[in-house]
Amino acid sequence: AAPLVVARSTALAAKNGLLIRRRASFEGARKLQSVVFDKTGTLTEGKFGITDIVLEKGFKEEDVLRLVGSLESQSEHPIARGIVENATERGINLKSPDEFDSITGKGLKGTVEGEDIKVVSPGYMQEQDISYQSEKFEKLSKQGKTVVFVLIDNKLSAMIALADKIRESAKRAIHELKQMNVQPMMLTGDNKQVANWVASQLMLKNVYAEVLPHEKADKIKEIKQNGLKVAMTGDGVNDAPALANADLGIAIGAGTDVAMESADVVLVKSNPNDVVSIIALSKSTYRKMI
Ligand code: ADP
Ligand code: MG
Repeated sequence: AAPLVVARSTALAAKNGLLIRRRASFEGARKLQSVVFDKTGTLTEGKFGITDIVLEKGFKEEDVLRLVGSLESQSEHPIARGIVENATERGINLKSPDEFDSITGKGLKGTVEGEDIKVVSPGYMQEQDISYQSEKFEKLSKQGKTVVFVLIDNKLSAMIALADKIRESAKRAIHELKQMNVQPMMLTGDNKQVANWVASQLMLKNVYAEVLPHEKADKIKEIKQNGLKVAMTGDGVNDAPALANADLGIAIGAGTDVAMESADVVLVKSNPNDVVSIIALSKSTYRKMI
């Protein structure tokens, strides 16, 4: 394509909230065969609200929320933001933890008010062989809710369920990609039931759940090795390596700086359907090229 045509296309794209950071990757977008989406914050809004708190005997809701909220105040994860917002709305006074550290892809741990606090995924619970009310957990998960577990001094004190909203535009994106013969997939660190619930709402068949951050990057590599031209779309710090590995890395504008720095294209409007626009624009821009 003539340089002028390309310049015009990238300007038009920018006007519509599609920031093309690497032109070579944008050119290749017309040949994409698969688009992988992160779930939280990408297909969904990434705005969690607490829906249920299931307490173990001897624990008070307010104490649990204060300890957990204080710990989560140090994390940028959408789950953390949801918990902190909820605790604050209830007028609970959060403190800074004395110590905190992430448990990569599985949660957060630290010390608050001299107590050892952990907020962790179901995967962590299974791995550590800590038992919980699995029927309640299954019921909440099947409703598409993300459940995290609160451990105080390694003892289960509560299960917190949080709900996120699926982006309306995600439904259309999945539908249109299929129409273009581009295979949509989902890659998430969240548990299988939640992932399957979201996927069923979106009529999306290819789902990989309980994927750790480094495994996201490996999965993209694997898809490439199978000979598919693949795009990765994500918002989080833990999506950055996968974005960098993909033929086209697409960051959601409302996401983290790290994701945006690793991306070839940034979707300023945080609209997953703009992935379709990028592919269409790449096709029309480079149509006449061999
Ligand atoms: P995603 O692919 O949905 O962005 P992550 O890899 O960030 O998933 O997280 C995977 C899981 O680890 C979450 O579903 C949650 O169970 C747990 N987790 C991660 N960070 C936190 C946190 N700050 N607080 C509580 N749980 C967390
Ligand atoms: Mg995410």
